[in-house]
Amino acid sequence: AAKHDGGGNVQSYSDVMAVSIADTAALGAQLQHAITDGQLFLQYQPIVALDTGRLRGVEALVRWAHPERGIVPPVEFIPVAERTGLIVPLGDWVLVEACRQLAAWRHEHGDAAPRMLNVNVSARQMRDGGFVDRVAAILNETGVPPHRLTLEITESTAVALGETVTRLDDLRRMGIRIALDDFGTGQSTLTLLHELPVDQLKLDRSFTQGTDTSRRDTMPAAVIALADAVGLDLVAEGVETGDQAARLAELGYQHAQGYHFARPLPAAAIRDLMVQQPVPVPAAT
Ligand code: C2E
Ligand code: MG
Ligand code: MG
Ligand code: MG
Repeated sequence: AAKHDGGGNVQSYSDVMAVSIADTAALGAQLQHAITDGQLFLQYQPIVALDTGRLRGVEALVRWAHPERGIVPPVEFIPVAERTGLIVPLGDWVLVEACRQLAAWRHEHGDAAPRMLNVNVSARQMRDGGFVDRVAAILNETGVPPHRLTLEITESTAVALGETVTRLDDLRRMGIRIALDDFGTGQSTLTLLHELPVDQLKLDRSFTQGTDTSRRDTMPAAVIALADAVGLDLVAEGVETGDQAARLAELGYQHAQGYHFARPLPAAAIRDLMVQQPVPVPAAT
């Protein structure tokens, strides 16, 4: 329920807390239903090669078509799913759906289809004892080769994983790739990079977009030097302008994602992009 206050009354802190706890419980119950009732759907955001503009991969992003609230974005229900444990069945659903879609694209369009599929995974999913076996089963059932799948984790996920970093090793031994999402926003970045078995860094959009005009290249330049030195694949997230795309290309970035190229799109729109490659973008500004 929304926080209607009946006419401009200021709610006390405890009222707000009560509303948000009730909200979590209500949303949790509805989310359980949503998973089994087909209210979740995926959009796919292109990851493109900066030099040619060609579609290199897609990141699957979940949305909830709520019967009363309309489209609910993941920031509003993923935290609820994590708190309630529903992230495990929800995450399984996302993996199955995204792998089926990639298999269908590749079946219909061959090499014009995205080569890579990125899927976000929460700490709670990763910690679940059956996770690795279920991922293997999903790849097997959908016919997606493991090397086409990249699982995105965040630095906080990695920290929370602690000793179960062996789980990442298990996944990589199967041929699955691991990406560190929102790179640069978390804690103990260098230690993590040193210890974590990862294949790809995704530069957080706060660095892509620059926070300080006079020093805006500093972080992207430092991160590409780091990625090159350690031999990691690199994707710049949140590219919104032609200027940003051009600057990243000059710095040596090969892959990027962001509204400048395409927003997250329904599967059918990705199909359209495949047949009109390179991805049409507004003229560089
Ligand atoms: P993320 O994995 O970092 O995904 C990128 C987010 O940035 C997406 O938001 C995307 O729409 C947005 N974005 C892409 N390009 C631009 C840009 O140029 N400018 C700006 N301002 N934003 C851009 P979205 O879809 O709302 O997802 C938010 C977060 O929710 C994701 O961040 C991810 O952490 C989480 N999420 C989404 N789907 C899943 C899922 O299936 N499982 C889990 N565990 N988390 C998910
Ligand atoms: Mg991501
Ligand atoms: Mg990200
Ligand atoms: Mg993010």
